Amino acid sequence: MAEIRARGIIIKQSDYGEGHRMLSIFTEEYGIIKAVSYGVKKAKSKAAASSQFLCYADFDLYKGANKDVMTVNSIDTIDGFYPLSEDIKKLSLCVYLSDITYSILGMNNPDARILHILLNSIYALAYRNENIAKVKAVYEMKLMCVGGYMPSVHECASCGSGKVFAFDLLKGGMVCRDCGGKYLVKMDKNLYRAIDYITSCEDKKMLSFNASEELIKSLGSLTEQYIALQMDQRYASLDYYKAMLEM
Ligand SMILES: [Zn+2]
Repeated sequence: MAEIRARGIIIKQSDYGEGHRMLSIFTEEYGIIKAVSYGVKKAKSKAAASSQFLCYADFDLYKGANKDVMTVNSIDTIDGFYPLSEDIKKLSLCVYLSDITYSILGMNNPDARILHILLNSIYALAYRNENIAKVKAVYEMKLMCVGGYMPSVHECASCGSGKVFAFDLLKGGMVCRDCGGKYLVKMDKNLYRAIDYITSCEDKKMLSFNASEELIKSLGSLTEQYIALQMDQRYASLDYYKAMLEM
């Protein structure tokens, strides 16, 4: 058995057997990994309080014969993002953000940049009074950019012409009138500027722009459709998040 130490955040948890918990941890060093935290339901378990969704920590893990699942030995919590545990809307958004991160990255594929933009977004939700729908839309777009789906913004995604007029969700970016297909989202100046900003700004400044409620709405509609179409996936956690917003 080999012991490893990794820094990361728990992006999924589920019950496992009698009193244990299966965790998906997005670590800096190893990407998203699976690990079992044994005995978390016992009062004396040291790892119990920390084996929670969104716990950001240094994890001591055992890598045994089962290469796919590690064992949690101990957890040194850095930040539990506790304000989120009291806000079901923000919490359900974090579940969705974790889902799309997994679908872009898969298992065992380290990507420090994606980890950092995810942590920035979770931090903004927990500790800053950032608009929740804005955090969602911006993370969706930035994740696509960093994860290999950078949309073409200034030139037509099909022919390279500079005369772009709408965003083609399937072709992956702005297109000209000749190339536009079935999945077009019309642009106005503000929406175009917001996309231009998010796709080109430094990661840590991804939320540093002003946007009206209306702009956030049209941006969020575009970004969620862009991910769903490119990943060819429907996210139940997105539906759940939306249902929570209605409450
Ligand atoms: Zn074109």
